[in-house]
Amino acid sequence: MNEEKDSVCNIKSMYLERGISEEVYAFGEQILAGLAARFRAIDENAEYNQLKVLKALQDNQVSEACLLGTTGYGYNDLGRDTLERVYAAVFHTEDALVRPQITCGTHALALALMSNLRPGDELLSPVGKPYDTLEEVIGIRPSKGSLQEYGIDYRQVDLNTDGSFDYEGIRAAVNEKTKLVTIQRSKGYQTRPTLSVKKIGELIAFVKSLKPDVICMVDNCYGEFVERLEPSDVGADMVVGSLIKNPGGGLAPIGGYIAGRKECVENAAYRLTSPGLGREVGASLGILSAFYQGLFLAPTVTAGALKGALFAANIYEQLGFRVVPDGKESRHDIIQAVEFGSPEGVIAFCEGIQAAAPIDSHVTPEPWDMPGYDSKVIMAAGAFVAGSSIELSADGPIKPPYAVYFQGGLTWQHAKFGILKSLQRLVDKGIVSKFFP
Ligand SMILES: *Cc1c(COP(=O)(O)O)cnc(C)c1O
Repeated sequence: MNEEKDSVCNIKSMYLERGISEEVYAFGEQILAGLAARFRAIDENAEYNQLKVLKALQDNQVSEACLLGTTGYGYNDLGRDTLERVYAAVFHTEDALVRPQITCGTHALALALMSNLRPGDELLSPVGKPYDTLEEVIGIRPSKGSLQEYGIDYRQVDLNTDGSFDYEGIRAAVNEKTKLVTIQRSKGYQTRPTLSVKKIGELIAFVKSLKPDVICMVDNCYGEFVERLEPSDVGADMVVGSLIKNPGGGLAPIGGYIAGRKECVENAAYRLTSPGLGREVGASLGILSAFYQGLFLAPTVTAGALKGALFAANIYEQLGFRVVPDGKESRHDIIQAVEFGSPEGVIAFCEGIQAAAPIDSHVTPEPWDMPGYDSKVIMAAGAFVAGSSIELSADGPIKPPYAVYFQGGLTWQHAKFGILKSLQRLVDKGIVSKFFP
């Protein structure tokens, strides 16, 4: 069948040469054998989403000229304006803003909030505490320029302990001032479950039944293309995310997007540049080709990352560690948490991921005092785009329960190698001693 299987060019010997032992390799293959049906489902999703993206590119008649950029003010930037229509088509929204001037996911979210809220309005999170960096945007942690400073109040309704929505709490929290509801799809670095698009749809329907004109915004970070539907397909007025995560496909070197209702996107455009100018300015320089090509690749890149997350979950679950999500449950984002219960475990895991990187594989990550954190944090990232978390990366705070958050992998093959490297490091350091506890 496979002529090269027995020759020198076989896969296993490549792993052995790269420092993976016979035992670790065999264990990985055994785990993999049980994942065939899940992998097929991931591939089918990617196939669906690939066609969705391709249709958006074709329907909007993307041409070679669209790949070029503008300079200066950026008036009449054909490629930029067309790309925004492509994003709107992918997310099935009226409009979209997709710009390199949106510097990251936090900026995109802050922009969506600040442009659509006015003094005296109230913002509500019905899904508990938002992502860390948003605490300062909102003013939960006092901060210069926060919504709080502009007289915009914030309310929060936590999820029930089983992860379900506290419908009565939400009913009580919505009032005449409630203008915008923010819903974070991914669990981020929390232990709550990630919300499926279906559940987000149920929540939006409930909120709209209480107050039809409230704006529902979804923080879509890490969720794009994981499912066939996006939150904008189930009633979200805005979906917001970062291009150095899923939708940039690993190629976008910067950027963020806001897709949604025309009025919401327009407000964001006037806030991003200036009242009166809005979306008409903002040169794309030479970046559009990476944005287009990244979006084109995003469904399959996301699929590779998902396979990696699933593989890691099943490996470490078998070895007796707590993993979130677990090896069996359905997935709605690309993040995988593994609880090692010891600093050594977190460090060894990150060392393994780093050693597998295409860039900076020769450096050793170490825990350090990162600004804004109350413990040391270790990070493994050997990425082409600095800080990109659609590329294979891992980080963990050095504090109980000593969990590592792992995500990405531009290709499944690289994610697999990284995970085997991490396991090898744990074995070499004696943290994992036998394969079936
Ligand atoms: C990454 C992320 C953000 C912030 O994005 P940055 O690009 O890091 O600023 C916000 N929300 C969630 C859920 C994220 O995963």
